[in-house]
Amino acid sequence: MQAFAFSTVPLEPERHREALAEPSAGGYASFEGWVRDLNEGRAVHRLEYEAFETLAVKEGERIVAEAIQRFGVARAACVHRVGGLGIGELAVWVGVSAVHRGEAFAACRYIIDEVKHRVPIWKKEHYADGDSGWVNCERCAAAAHDPHEGHDHASEEASPVAVTGTATHMDYSRQTALPEVGESGQARLAAASVLVIGAGGLGVPVLQYLTAAGIGRIGVVDGDLVEASNLHRQPLYGAADLGRPKVAVAAERLRALNPEVQIEAHALHAGPDNVDALVSRYDLVVECTDNFRAKFLVNDAVLRAGKPAVFASVHQYEGQLQVYRPLPHWPCLRCLWPEVPRDGLVGNCAEAGVLGPVPATLGSLQAMQALKRILGLDAGESPSLVMVDLLNLETRRLVARRDPACDHETPGRDRDPGALPLELAFKTLVEAFESGLELVDIRESWERAHDPPGLQIPTHLPLSELVHGHAQFPADGRYLIICAHGVRSLSLTEYLRSQGQSEVYSLRGGLAALRS
Ligand SMILES: [Zn+2]
Repeated sequence: MQAFAFSTVPLEPERHREALAEPSAGGYASFEGWVRDLNEGRAVHRLEYEAFETLAVKEGERIVAEAIQRFGVARAACVHRVGGLGIGELAVWVGVSAVHRGEAFAACRYIIDEVKHRVPIWKKEHYADGDSGWVNCERCAAAAHDPHEGHDHASEEASPVAVTGTATHMDYSRQTALPEVGESGQARLAAASVLVIGAGGLGVPVLQYLTAAGIGRIGVVDGDLVEASNLHRQPLYGAADLGRPKVAVAAERLRALNPEVQIEAHALHAGPDNVDALVSRYDLVVECTDNFRAKFLVNDAVLRAGKPAVFASVHQYEGQLQVYRPLPHWPCLRCLWPEVPRDGLVGNCAEAGVLGPVPATLGSLQAMQALKRILGLDAGESPSLVMVDLLNLETRRLVARRDPACDHETPGRDRDPGALPLELAFKTLVEAFESGLELVDIRESWERAHDPPGLQIPTHLPLSELVHGHAQFPADGRYLIICAHGVRSLSLTEYLRSQGQSEVYSLRGGLAALRS
């Protein structure tokens, strides 16, 4: 099949998809652009596409070849309709097959964005009121000459299974150059959604850096208006914005910063009646309010939802940072602060005073923790409370422990009050490593002899040596005990628990239950 083609008849995605089949390919991503019933406020009831075909095919083939080379994918293709189309019809199809999904997503997005910028295609819209007109011809023609001056000339939107097709000027090369990020990390960021609660001193840097990094969808929650006293520490807003809702201004600025990111503005204060619904719609929560009541409200909501969250607070020249992950041994906010501190006792910015870079520093740390979680770079990070003193330039990292007296529920935890589960289930060894528990392999040496080199568990304490007293299980720390089928590890876990060691778990089903 031709890498780029026009079609005068309805597209058949199934047929195009077959042409991309490839034994080495483990992932396939496609984009479908459909004809929408509205463009720039006018009701559209059908449209026509016309292409300058000789030039367009050449340019289209160049784009597909660039995508294959740039992302190292197996195969890619793009087909565009020309002629008359009705509402809901498939106007453009892009398909990519690749060894891994990350490259498939990235290449797919690259092709649709570049096609919209560079391929000379014109569109005639027929409006509901009987009027019609060629749309954006001048700008489209200009786009054919200058790939950087593109214009979104089609009215199609992403189908539910697809990547959105907004024109873009973003270049993530300075972050994808990091080996831990790469194109697949970028695709993870694009697939992620983050809820930022509070668009003040902490929330502003969080929003700016997460938007710039290319998080796919960001929700902003804040019910306040921009006030003159905000500007010194919230420079996302300007003097001209005074009196406007913060989320409206923030959404405007963030969309201008990165049009690829879907910004969802929630002009309200998080409260008991809305917090669960908000949290449920996002993968991760960054808590950026300046009051403890809201922090504990969010804490309880993320615990119920089993979502990770990043908390921070500031007081004058000091700040604190705490991450919550929905794992049995991770403390929540209430584990560290059994009594909700009264607002005003510690003091918020209004009463205590603050210099802008203090919340900016803590907000940047929150953004970093959020990116690390999404990229899986926080593997092995243990629960902690990080305290930063900007006046003395000192950072302290305290080990945070779960308080047995805190009855916070963890998803998957036994309902038996106070009891931790004996077993934890993980899908892959990598996921088990990322839990922050130390992995201990209790199989015998002969059982380990055939492990693939990439799946060696460094800590090895054969059960036979433990049973015969030749080795001791370490008394301190948090461990995930692993054997072949989860039977020996469960009995050792039960024994250690009976000896008072609370933070040991057995890998449910053992290594046999894991995907490689
Ligand atoms: Zn707790």
